[in-house]
Amino acid sequence: MSLIPPSSPPHTLGMSKKQDKLDRELGMGRSISRRDFLNGVSVALTSSVLPTSAVGAFQSLQAQENGNYPPTRTGMRGSHAGSFEVAHEMREGKTWERPETVDELHDLVVVGGGISGLSAAYFFKKLHGERARILILDNHDDFGGHAKRNEFWHQGKMYLMNGGTLNVEAPAQYSTVAAGLLWELGIDRTRYYESVAKVSDLYRKLGLGYGVFFDRETFGADRLVAGYGKLPIREFLASSPLSEKAKTDLARLYGGKEDYLTGLSSDEKKKKLARVSYRDYLVEIAKADAGVVAFLNSRPMGLFCTGIDAVPALYAWEMEFPGFGGLGLAPTPPERLLAEPGGAHGRENGARADSGDPDMYFPDGNATIARLLVRALLPKAVPGRSMEDVVASHVDYGLLDRGDHPVRIRLESTVVKVEHDGPVDRAREVSLTYVQRGRAFRVRAGAAVLACWNNVIPYIWSEIPEDQKKALLDGVKAPLVYTSVLVSNWKSFVKAGVSGVSAPGSYHVSLGLGPSLSLGDYRSSQDPETPVVVRMSRYPCSPGLSRREQHRVGREELLSTDFETCERGIRDQLGRTLGPSGFDPASDVLAITVNRWPHGYAYAYNTLYDPEEWAFTSSPSRPAIRGRRPWGRVAIANSDAAASPHTDAAIDEAYRAVMEISSALDT
Ligand SMILES: Cc1cc2nc3c(=O)[nH]c(=O)nc-3n(C[C@H](O)[C@H](O)[C@H](O)COP(=O)(O)OP(=O)(O)OC[C@H]3O[C@@H](n4cnc5c(N)ncnc54)[C@H](O)[C@@H]3O)c2cc1C
Repeated sequence: MSLIPPSSPPHTLGMSKKQDKLDRELGMGRSISRRDFLNGVSVALTSSVLPTSAVGAFQSLQAQENGNYPPTRTGMRGSHAGSFEVAHEMREGKTWERPETVDELHDLVVVGGGISGLSAAYFFKKLHGERARILILDNHDDFGGHAKRNEFWHQGKMYLMNGGTLNVEAPAQYSTVAAGLLWELGIDRTRYYESVAKVSDLYRKLGLGYGVFFDRETFGADRLVAGYGKLPIREFLASSPLSEKAKTDLARLYGGKEDYLTGLSSDEKKKKLARVSYRDYLVEIAKADAGVVAFLNSRPMGLFCTGIDAVPALYAWEMEFPGFGGLGLAPTPPERLLAEPGGAHGRENGARADSGDPDMYFPDGNATIARLLVRALLPKAVPGRSMEDVVASHVDYGLLDRGDHPVRIRLESTVVKVEHDGPVDRAREVSLTYVQRGRAFRVRAGAAVLACWNNVIPYIWSEIPEDQKKALLDGVKAPLVYTSVLVSNWKSFVKAGVSGVSAPGSYHVSLGLGPSLSLGDYRSSQDPETPVVVRMSRYPCSPGLSRREQHRVGREELLSTDFETCERGIRDQLGRTLGPSGFDPASDVLAITVNRWPHGYAYAYNTLYDPEEWAFTSSPSRPAIRGRRPWGRVAIANSDAAASPHTDAAIDEAYRAVMEISSALDT
């Protein structure tokens, strides 16, 4: 791995002269937009990326200058300092017994301001009318949950990247409810595809493709090899530092001629592949070299947040990873497709994830959906009328929580208690306690939707039975990091011939140019001489442990790694990957935002660790279904409730939860 391990002594304590020199070369001493150290002590707000003038519709200058505009905050974001401490104290047993009473009575309080919580508010408002009083409580300093936006400014121009939830994956698979919501919010797929088509093939036209960075710690030498997927595999591997045996084995596996499970029927093979990891399939069944494992290990991380040791070989086959071509496996019927990556759960038509309309990616990812939802709930807070103008719209955070509007979004508020005011089946009200900046408050409502995470609910809602709590705690959300780096130019990418790089042995296992797209007034960088946002992804894994354990360990790692360690690793990795083609980590990095998500993707079932029934069917025996049972005036939303890490699941679960409490309100 290219990063100094998190357990290394902090940079400032007893640093050697050699490290000091390395740090200077990496530009560690230079001020970037802002540094957040562990626990959020921020220093050095500099002017290097702050705009000098407003351009066109982009009006958020003043807000950024005083550092108060959440999407422009850099340093350690995602689960940022200040957002999770109260919940962790609650987990350790702390209680808040004497909350101050807030003189508010809402029809609905929603816990969680992610896409699911915002959708729940939207559906409730639609069902109960404009005057319905709704309060949304979220522990972060920005709305959107995982669907956050990173907004960088440099010399008067805005550069966007998603800080979490990336795209509308397989929109053709969205349910009537989820697709209908996007449509009502103004997301017009036809207009979207026409707009992005203008620039979407820029990188291809420049001859850029995919490359693999082989790091010296894993592969013996630092080398970026371009042409993955374009060159025949043998030719591509020829210039890699892999051993001859690994190269031969990879060529064999990619060639896909051998049947490694002779004598078994297609169904028998699939059954076997469901119970063996892809790693073990490669090593023990296909007899591949260890170099093959190192080369392919990061392949499934973007979907599963683990390496190939914790992913069933059957899933690898579904994802068309190498090694299965000669097995003669019959295509899987749509109704048997996996929650990941094919997604039948929560999706009505069971089509493959790669069928139908292509994925939709907005300049700030699915933060666009969150912003459109907030616009629908609080039109004045997010000015504008279309999916195009929301990209540059300046959110007035001061309007999110005002007494003169029926819908209110209260940020930096962690809910620590939910209970009915009386017996669950007869109570007319629910009360919720939340902690905001160290003070506890109690608010009343006619009903509540818990659109927060399954692993939080047992701690805040004691009224539910023990077996339901157990079911809610069954899954472990997957940790991951999306890092956004504003760089001054992308000439080094052009010189290297890559727009995206897989780095299977490195700290961030992928890096690449932000997508080339145009929407409304926003146009991503079209000129390699100009700044661009580079996206890097990391999935902390501990091969050898179960998937759940790996996620738990990974979560701790993310929370205990400070920004400085991340920054050093980022600069080091960019320098080693692109330095030979001209990238200078000391001068080319303008700003860094590390979006860490210790509680990331919803846990989806996996045949190595869970019953096949849970992984392949919509069985009500799945813990996610048992866990989401409503009681009285409280229902449960969030993508965890579908065991599906997808935006459509977040929306579908919000709809179900609102229907459940609405029928409870009618009785
Ligand atoms: C890095 C990343 C990339 C992703 N990419 C994609 C993608 O490309 N496509 C896709 O479809 N899905 C993607 N996802 C999955 C994503 O989780 C869902 O699409 C969706 O955004 C989930 O929305 P949600 O509202 O269900 O949950 P969340 O977005 O997690 O929102 C729940 C909110 O509740 C808050 N909360 C929890 N407990 C409390 C409490 N006690 N009090 C107050 N608030 C609380 C949480 O902090 C959070 O803000 C991605 C997820 C991550 C982390």
